[in-house]
Amino acid sequence: TTTPTKARLPIGPLLPVVGGNLAAPLAGNGAGGRTARAVNLDYAASAPALQAVADHVAEVLPYYASVHRGAGYASQVSTALYESARQTIGAFVGARPGDLTVFTRNTTDALNLLAGAVPQDGPGAGEVVVLDVEHHANLLPWTARRHRLIPTASTVAETVAALEATLAERPAALVAVTGCSNVTGEILPIGEIARIAHAHGARVVVDGAQLVPHRRVDIAALDVDYIAFSGHKIYAPFGSGVLIGRSDWLDAAQPHLAGGGAVRSVDAQGQAVWTTGVARHEGGTPNVLGAAALAAACRAIADLPEGAVEEHEAALSARLLEGLQEIPQVRVLRAWSDSTDRVGVVGFTVEGHEAARVAVYLSAEHGVGVRDGKFCAHPLLNRLGVTGGALRASLGLGSRSDDVERLLHAVRTLVTEGE
Ligand code: PLP
Repeated sequence: TTTPTKARLPIGPLLPVVGGNLAAPLAGNGAGGRTARAVNLDYAASAPALQAVADHVAEVLPYYASVHRGAGYASQVSTALYESARQTIGAFVGARPGDLTVFTRNTTDALNLLAGAVPQDGPGAGEVVVLDVEHHANLLPWTARRHRLIPTASTVAETVAALEATLAERPAALVAVTGCSNVTGEILPIGEIARIAHAHGARVVVDGAQLVPHRRVDIAALDVDYIAFSGHKIYAPFGSGVLIGRSDWLDAAQPHLAGGGAVRSVDAQGQAVWTTGVARHEGGTPNVLGAAALAAACRAIADLPEGAVEEHEAALSARLLEGLQEIPQVRVLRAWSDSTDRVGVVGFTVEGHEAARVAVYLSAEHGVGVRDGKFCAHPLLNRLGVTGGALRASLGLGSRSDDVERLLHAVRTLVTEGE
């Protein structure tokens, strides 16, 4: 017998997103064929733009001009926009006075920038300690250099202990850790990891790509040295990201993008005296609209009542997890058996069904968009024994309970009736 599910109130979107009511064609249609509201459960890949972001971009578009170097009115407005976006985004994650907020293309770019800035001289210099649960963006920039890769244990406690043991054995310059797994949605104890790293003389960088869209993050309070995240995962369009953190390494590093804007002067032989601060790494004409859009997203989220994002998502996640776990053929992926905190990103497999086919079925037959594959986290998927790929449903500010219900109905139909 099944326990009757309690009557539960529908949950709507927390904030309006662009394209939230798109109609998706269902299989077998032609002109006049079936359509359904396109359910987007792929926020973890790229979140749709918030309506507030789209409005802000439309408002500032008339001032489209190159920043910093123009005396014209539009250029002045663009410069002010760009620099105030920097302030807003830094403040959104608790940047300390003196921290740099460097604009990049995305998280990958930001982490590559930092990888080029890790000091190579002195005790413990150069080495970066990294876990094998990471997204490739927070793995490959490090493994291409001097690094120590820690195979994660089956519990968070053992994983943190392994991290501590490696730092105690030999100093390292930096610990690179994800705030939240893009495969399982599990959150690591970043504050504790930062404390351990600092106790052993290492700094910490958090890959915030999946954490920042879901949780208020305060790097000063967590004592995290650097954080990287992407605009397109936090409801802004593609093409903007940030690296935020301590200035000393960044000021001493080779410029990430050598070129105009990054120099104080260039001599007749083309030898540059590089500038310091954010401009050192932002050679070339910057993505002003991307920066403004990312700042607008941060503002819209910061303006929500405290805890609203977490509550909205926790209610939806609970339904999603409960519903998936009720289907015997579904395995919900977890990296650690003792993790206690998670966001609304759920990796799963369906026994007897290839993930890629399931994803196509969900979209074609039910209008539900999820992600399938190995989520740029091959070592983790391999450790979990998922060879052929998995599925991932991920929630965000525009998600609603009927999105979750539609996915659950679709998976139940799949396992009972087949593709
Ligand atoms: N880190 C995590 C945890 C991610 O999920 C992603 C993207 O999926 C990235 C980094 C890379 O982000 P981007 O592709 O915007 O550079």
